[in-house]
This record gives sequence, structure tokens and C-alpha cells, in this order.
Amino acid sequence: MKDYDVAVVGAGPVGSTYARYMAEKGFSVAILEKKKKVGVPLQCAGLLGKRIKKVNKLPSEFIMNKVYGADIHSPSDIVLKVDKKEPEAYVIDRVAYDEYLSEIALESGAELLLNHRVEDVDLQKGEVHVKNRGKISAKVIVGADGHDSLVSRLLNPPSETYGAAQYLVKVVNTLEIDYVKLRVDSRISPGFLWFIPISTSLVRVGLFSKLTYPELNVHLQHYLKRLPELKNSSVEKKYQGHIPVHDPKKQIISGRTLLLGDAASQVKPTTGGGLRLGFICAQMAFEVTSKAIETDNMDILLDYPNLYHKKFGRELKTQLQVQKIFQSLNDADLDLMFQKLKEEGAEDLISEYGDMDTQSPLVKEMLKMGVLFSVLPKILSRRISSLWK
Ligand SMILES: Cc1cc2nc3c(=O)[nH]c(=O)nc-3n(C[C@H](O)[C@H](O)[C@H](O)COP(=O)(O)OP(=O)(O)OC[C@H]3O[C@@H](n4cnc5c(N)ncnc54)[C@H](O)[C@@H]3O)c2cc1C
Repeated sequence: MKDYDVAVVGAGPVGSTYARYMAEKGFSVAILEKKKKVGVPLQCAGLLGKRIKKVNKLPSEFIMNKVYGADIHSPSDIVLKVDKKEPEAYVIDRVAYDEYLSEIALESGAELLLNHRVEDVDLQKGEVHVKNRGKISAKVIVGADGHDSLVSRLLNPPSETYGAAQYLVKVVNTLEIDYVKLRVDSRISPGFLWFIPISTSLVRVGLFSKLTYPELNVHLQHYLKRLPELKNSSVEKKYQGHIPVHDPKKQIISGRTLLLGDAASQVKPTTGGGLRLGFICAQMAFEVTSKAIETDNMDILLDYPNLYHKKFGRELKTQLQVQKIFQSLNDADLDLMFQKLKEEGAEDLISEYGDMDTQSPLVKEMLKMGVLFSVLPKILSRRISSLWK
């Protein structure tokens, strides 16, 4: 049985990044990936807030477009425009980026074992059972095996997920590429629809929601017909995927095993985005696991959930509350809210304080300026203000 310092289950972007940090420090690292090729099929809209560059490498060759903001549409097309002076987010080639992250992990000394499906893990002993290939052992095991994580299922009840569907659409008219479009609709709440241009002729159109995949497609088709920009367009490819429902109670450590990325439901509840949070948690997991191995003291691993909750607990809680409130609004409420927000000048406020990654500064500012109290029914305003008590 081959022995490593660390066995990482899953060569997604988060697992590969963690593996790289460990390999760079000289630890022996195996990445076990069930697929034959990293990164495919695409399961991402590829929209990353500009601060992603602070938490991982992102060479410019993977950036397909830069966007300055968003047009956010209400169900009856009242539009809130979020406009920044500098690019706010990058639209990336996610398949190539995943490959790149695994390649630089290999260059740092990690071993990538493709076609290695992990079937079972002994959390305490540190043994990983790989389908048709026997066992390997490791001092620490990291489950970075995505939304349907086998490792998570050994520690937790089955995870809840949202379904996601996305089309790559080719358009005939030249697209405006500086802004993404988002659309809220109570039938898919707390999910939403997105329209993310990657060039003047190609756009990713998708949505996530609790609906089934066929139902998601019905909504998507409806949206495609409705948008004037998409007249005479053709669907080039269809993708589907899952986004974990963020679970603040998820157990992310047991024995010498910990969970990371989507496997730990480390995603932003409001948008489902997981890369930035996953990358920051990869750094945290690296600091904790390297110390535990160096000192041969696995109790140190217990610092990982503490650090994670300390850094993100409050923001994630706020986002869960915002999401809950959104879910309780019907289309008429949403339209009214958009109309009032526009009247109250909230577009400027959102443009200044809005951030793809953290929503609490904006919500706080809206409370401070009294905007939320004038736009939302009293009961909702009370619920929001109680977040800071
Ligand atoms: C439609 C869609 C759009 C999205 N858009 C965005 C976005 O715009 N921005 C953003 O930040 N995030 C977005 N996300 C979320 C983002 O894709 C995830 O958060 C991210 O992929 C998580 O990375 P990960 O490495 O944790 O897991 P994954 O990328 O899921 O990787 C897990 C890996 O583990 C492997 N694996 C699973 N089980 C096993 C096993 N038993 N044995 C071995 N290997 C295994 C899988 O094959 C996979 O390679 C989107 C998700 C979807 C579905």
C-alpha cells in the first residue's frame, strides 16, 4: 500500500489548489480523480469577482471578458443598473483554468492519479479505497470531491443541492459585453437567471434553482425567446450541474479527514459561487494540515472548522438571511422592491457598496441610509435589521 502525507480526493480547482500548497512545502501529495480528464464537462458560469486574484493565480490567458457591472431585472423588467468604473469581475475559461490549476500542482510535486474513483475512506486510520486499484494510506485525507462528495456522506447526512442549467448561445447581432444581466423571478427563487457575455457573439445563459432539470430548461427556453439580444440565436452547447445548498452545520472534520470546497458546501448562499471561498479555505486547510503533519499532532486539525467559521460565519449567515427573505417575496413584491429601490437612488448605493463576494456592507449601508425601511414591507425590514442585533 502506497503511503502519502496527504491524499486529496478530487482534482477540482479547490482540491488542486490545496494540493499545490502542500506539495510546494515538500509534503508528498496524491490527488485522486475519478475522471479521465480534469475540468470537463464545464459546470460553471465562470464569473469571478476581481478579488479572485488576491486568493489564487489567474493568468490573463484564462480571462475571456471583463465586466464592469450588472443589469438586474425584476420580473416585469424594472432594471437596476450596477456600474463600476473599473472591471468588477472576470469571465473565465473554466475548463482550461481547472486544467492549469492541476498542472501547477503537478509541477510543484503533487501526483495526479486520474481514473481513480474513491469508493471508501477510513476517516480515522487514513486509508483510501480506490475502485479496482486497492488502498493507499495518508496522514491526512482531504475530501474535495464536489457537491456529491462521498467523503462528506461519511460524516454528514446527504447534502442538499440546487439544480443548474446553462446554454452556450451564439448570437447574430453584436453583443454589448461590458455588463452581465441577472433576472430574479419568484418561480426560481432563491436562484436567478444569468446572461454572461464571453465575446461579442457568444454568451452563457443559465439559471439555478430548486426545480428539476426539465423544469429549469423550460425556464431557460422561455428566457431565450424573451430577450431581444437573442433573436435568431442558436444554442451551441447545453450544460447541467449542481450547486450545494450552503449548510452552516455541516461537519467538515473527523479524525484525520477534512472537507474542502463544494464538498464542505463552502459556497456563497446568494449566488452559489464557490471558487473564491474554496480558494481561501484551501489556504486555511493548508496552514492547519501542514502544522498537524509537521508536529504529528492530529488534534491541530480541529482548528480548521474554527478558523473557517470565524472568518466566514457572519457573512454566510447574512447571505442566508438575505436569501430567505428573497425566497419569501412573490413577483409583485419583487417588482415593488425594484421600483422603490430605483426611486430611492439605490443604484448609486449598489454601485458603490455592492460586491459580488460580500453582501453585508451593502445591506448595512442600505439600513444606515434608511433605504431598506422605505422599500420593504415593515415586517421584512424588521427581519433584516435584526441581523445586526
Ligand atoms: C452551472 C454552475 C455555474 C457556476 N458558476 C459559478 C461562477 O460563476 N463562479 C463561481 O465562483 N462558482 C460557480 N459555480 C460553482 C463552482 O463551479 C464550484 O463551487 C467549484 O467547482 C467547486 O470546486 P471544487 O474543487 O470544490 O469541486 P468540483 O469542481 O466539483 O471538483 C470535484 C472533483 O472531484 C471529483 N470527484 C468526485 N467524486 C469523486 C470520487 N469519489 N473519487 C475521485 N474523484 C471524485 C470530480 O470528478 C471533480 O473533478 C457554478 C456551479 C455551477 C454548477
